[in-house]
Amino acid sequence: MTSAAPDPHQAIRDGVRSLCAQFPDEYFRRLDSERAYPEAFVDALTKAGWLAALIPQEYGGAGLGLAEASVIMEEINRCGGNAGACHGQMYNMGTLLRHGSEAQKRDYLPRIASGELRLQSMAVTEPTTGTDTTKLKTTAVRRGDRYVVNGQKVWISRVQHSDLMILLARTTPLAEVKRRSEGLSLFLVDLRDAIGHGLTVRPIENMVNHETNELFFDDLEVPADSLIGAEGKGFRYVLDGLNAERTLIAAECIGDGYWFVDRAVRYAKERVVFDRPIGQNQGIAFPLAECYMAVEAASLMRFRACTLFDAHEPCGAEANMAKHLAAKASWDAANACLQTYGGFGFAHEYDIERKFRETRLYQVAPISTNLVLAYIAEHVLGLPRSY
Ligand SMILES: Cc1cc2nc3c(=O)[nH]c(=O)nc-3n(C[C@H](O)[C@H](O)[C@H](O)COP(=O)(O)OP(=O)(O)OC[C@H]3O[C@@H](n4cnc5c(N)ncnc54)[C@H](O)[C@@H]3O)c2cc1C
Repeated sequence: MTSAAPDPHQAIRDGVRSLCAQFPDEYFRRLDSERAYPEAFVDALTKAGWLAALIPQEYGGAGLGLAEASVIMEEINRCGGNAGACHGQMYNMGTLLRHGSEAQKRDYLPRIASGELRLQSMAVTEPTTGTDTTKLKTTAVRRGDRYVVNGQKVWISRVQHSDLMILLARTTPLAEVKRRSEGLSLFLVDLRDAIGHGLTVRPIENMVNHETNELFFDDLEVPADSLIGAEGKGFRYVLDGLNAERTLIAAECIGDGYWFVDRAVRYAKERVVFDRPIGQNQGIAFPLAECYMAVEAASLMRFRACTLFDAHEPCGAEANMAKHLAAKASWDAANACLQTYGGFGFAHEYDIERKFRETRLYQVAPISTNLVLAYIAEHVLGLPRSY
């Protein structure tokens, strides 16, 4: 089900859909029950070049914009998969691209584009400070030609399926900076060297099939040239990257939203109770119509955020609004779909309950709903800061 207007991204949609067709519902359902990583799926996406969409051609990527990248993510979820297993590879490199040195870009980006190196992980969140990022406690202290890292992170995804990880750590104590957003720095950590040599990874069992971990840094040494950009400016670089992340995750929610509406509509036409298809009841049909409109509207905001991002214009408000509207639309669609399926929605074999759990995450991560509302209230409406 799509809108009637011609779609400028149809070729991308067709390409991703034909790849996804090789990985049907049963594939993701089995991995979900085994809590296993979709290795074959991510390999296929990488080999086909889809995860290098945003890497410029001079570094071996496709040189596409955020709009095209968002359509790739949308289609993965719309086909029943979960781009959360690999979306880091799509956007984490943006930090390196926009703020890394030419030497770092030449060294890493072609190998990330080819799939030789995976940059799936970014470590920001900490257990004791949560959303209050500038108070994070992990430190990186310069000693000669190295930084020594100590601290802890939580909910850091895909570390076991990545070679590299972007790390946000404090390089100047909070008490010594004028603004709390200063004194934080970004590092490109080579996980192959780090794990077992100062970095311990402890997996977190969780509600969805999502590989995520606690990280413990105990005198981890990283080379000084793994610093990305200028020391102390890391928080600003992270914010830049988060706009791309939020927009791409909005696209995943849009894909989920369409998937739920499509499945529910199909079932509502087929399922006959009281001698008529359940979709003939307005109590079933109207929520689905409402959900479809919300997904379409979120999709428009997603494209607005993409246009601004690709033009290097400020897009914090649009990226946050796209993420919020899309996450809300997909969650409402998930509920409407489950309700349409009745008891069968709870059976694993229909995949509704799996996608229901998966799309719920996006009310919380990568930024929770309240924090988006606080952002819009403060930065768009000019209301006083609430925290
Ligand atoms: C499966 C999963 C994968 C993740 N992957 C990553 C990753 O790869 N890298 C990474 O760095 N992080 C990751 N995260 C962390 C995620 O970004 C955080 O969970 C999220 O930002 C919320 O932070 P928190 O859990 O610490 O919640 P808290 O900050 O403890 O907040 C708890 C609740 O209180 C609310 N709240 C807090 N302060 C306010 C306020 N001032 N006003 C109103 N409400 C408030 C929040 O909205 C939230 O609902 C992941 C999380 C999950 C669950």
